[in-house]
Amino acid sequence: MKLDGLFIEEIVMKYFKLIDGGTYHIDEFEEKTNKNIPYYQNSKRYALCPTCGSSIQLIGGENNNTQSRTGKYYAAHTRNPIEGLFYDIERRNKCPNYEGNQNNWQGIYQRGEGLPENEELSIFINENQSDIAKKVGDLIGFNGLKSDGTPTAIFDKMLESFIRNGGLCILPEQFVPDYIPRMIIERAEPVSCWGATPYEEIRNRIQQNPNLQESIEGVQFKPNIRTELVCVLNNVENPTQIIIRLLFGQDELDLKTVNARVQ
Ligand SMILES: [Zn+2]
Repeated sequence: MKLDGLFIEEIVMKYFKLIDGGTYHIDEFEEKTNKNIPYYQNSKRYALCPTCGSSIQLIGGENNNTQSRTGKYYAAHTRNPIEGLFYDIERRNKCPNYEGNQNNWQGIYQRGEGLPENEELSIFINENQSDIAKKVGDLIGFNGLKSDGTPTAIFDKMLESFIRNGGLCILPEQFVPDYIPRMIIERAEPVSCWGATPYEEIRNRIQQNPNLQESIEGVQFKPNIRTELVCVLNNVENPTQIIIRLLFGQDELDLKTVNARVQ
């Protein structure tokens, strides 16, 4: 489906890149660009895709004359070149953010051999750690942030494990900011979740298990047997879901599943 010259059947992209490199959330667009050319033209907001580097337009948001039909604010690849911005139809068509090729996005979860660390990814994680920790918490169902706004131990452990397992070593076309929380949980090995604070639905799920009934102390999960959390793809070749699973003793308990695709 096309609207006003834009492809709208894309995965939801919430980040943009500037010509000189920095990647930011679309909420920061005006503050970072000062609405200068080529980012602002004819009252439309343009930038570059963080993944393929080809031009994107920011859709929706106030003061934008392109209304998104859903009322949401997001970024989408432009169909045509925009003056002053890089445009590469080949790279765009292969971009995981672009749905011209169906299931492009699944390549985000693929492992590469012998790749160097992706510098953009490590910078992005450092600069957006609280936001990523919050989103990881929402995905796994345990608090990613403490009340003082710093990351929780379970997030720190997952991030460490992700890095130790080569999570930073990705292809440029796998740098998709929206997917980073999912990439972290999927690449991490099982981590201890003792002392973590589950969300209510997860706490209820844990307490329904006969072996874990007594494991909640206050708001914290404090099982008296070794318990780890792991996040696994339902299908390695064609993932659609990430399963959030507890491992304890010889047993396991699926806490929830989340969509492998950012909706
Ligand atoms: Zn792209």
